[in-house]
Amino acid sequence: MNAFLVPPEIQFGENSLEYLSALEGEKAVLVTGGSSMKKFGFLDRAEELLQGAGMETMIIDGVEPNPSVKTVYAGRDDMLDFKPDWVIAIGGGSALDAAKIMWVFYEHPELKFEDIIEVASIPELRNKAKFIAVPSTSGTASEITAFSVITDTERKIKYPIVSPEIIPDAAVVDPEIPATMPPHITANTGMDVMAHAVESITSTNSSDYSAPLALKAIELVFNYLPRAFADGDDMEAREKMHNASTLAGMAFSNSSLGIVHSLAHKIGGEFHVTHGLANAILLPHVIEYNYEAAEEQFKTVEEYMGIDSLADEVRKLSNELDIKPKFQDIDWLDYSDEDFEEALARMSQNALEDPCTLTNPKKPDVEDMKEIYKKAYYGV
Ligand code: NDP
Ligand code: MN
Repeated sequence: MNAFLVPPEIQFGENSLEYLSALEGEKAVLVTGGSSMKKFGFLDRAEELLQGAGMETMIIDGVEPNPSVKTVYAGRDDMLDFKPDWVIAIGGGSALDAAKIMWVFYEHPELKFEDIIEVASIPELRNKAKFIAVPSTSGTASEITAFSVITDTERKIKYPIVSPEIIPDAAVVDPEIPATMPPHITANTGMDVMAHAVESITSTNSSDYSAPLALKAIELVFNYLPRAFADGDDMEAREKMHNASTLAGMAFSNSSLGIVHSLAHKIGGEFHVTHGLANAILLPHVIEYNYEAAEEQFKTVEEYMGIDSLADEVRKLSNELDIKPKFQDIDWLDYSDEDFEEALARMSQNALEDPCTLTNPKKPDVEDMKEIYKKAYYGV
């Protein structure tokens, strides 16, 4: 028995933020990240639309990249005081993920973070509020997925929280919002979309329902990411990339991923490499590692795109986006070759145990993981 779960409503295209003006209710809380949504006017606009619909509003801001358990508890307390009937997250994946879990604890204040770590352990939501997600990056697809990634800063562990309950009630995929991303964030989050799509289509849980969405997302990223990177005001490219992110999210939320994500999660945890950047560097190596095991799926992608080698085309795309081909070359990161060698065995073992490894088309062992890390670190 299988299910394909996505939000009941996906509003997309120009002006889709206006959807907020049609909501009915008394109180809405807006949850956002650092300063970008305020700075570019989207937070004020969202507040205006909600107030126009007769709602009282409150803002919870300051959600940090890789949001912490502490941030989530603080948001819960604010929601318990304000008692919203709508929770509206507007921002990058970090803001959306944090808002999801604030909402869980607002609905169930008796729960602690430890109680929801196990897959599908979140009890029924929507007794107090419904949840809308408005993404400002074209990358994580948290607006679609049953996932939230929260960091326990004391234990230094990133926890993927998984439950169909946290699939939003509506996603608002408005291309004007990610259009303010600077080029490097456009590039990194866009390669995250590529990794989602490729890993979904080659996942052992890929299905007739998820694969066509992943294939379309791959096409859109190849055709439009270079344009969105080169000219942030190219609204056609922005819209296509925003849709690609959402489509890839529909696919991977239902198929899960593979070891690009396992390896990226752990090197991200050790050295603070941005998620999308880590994926971009790892992806061609993992395609080569997995090629024989998922040959049919890779050939489908290559034929559909009219290309000879997906791995080579991914390398070319990253190059066009000024993404370094190996971890060793990222000069703003504060780690040495010795640090990498010291962490290698630990990262490889942890990556092997990551839930994304379960659906990789080829079963790796710890030596395989080390080999891939080395190729991605030193280059081949
Ligand atoms: P973040 O939400 O972490 O945002 C990264 C940076 O981009 C922030 O500095 C943010 O600024 C800025 N930013 C966001 N939108 C804009 C914009 N429109 N214009 C200008 N700047 C902007 O990035 P991601 O979206 O990549 O999310 C990463 C997080 O998502 C990680 O924690 C990762 O683990 C998680 N994740 C979640 C998944 C899921 O299914 N739920 C799947 C994969 C990853 P500011 O804070 O000021 O807004
Ligand atoms: Mn990802």
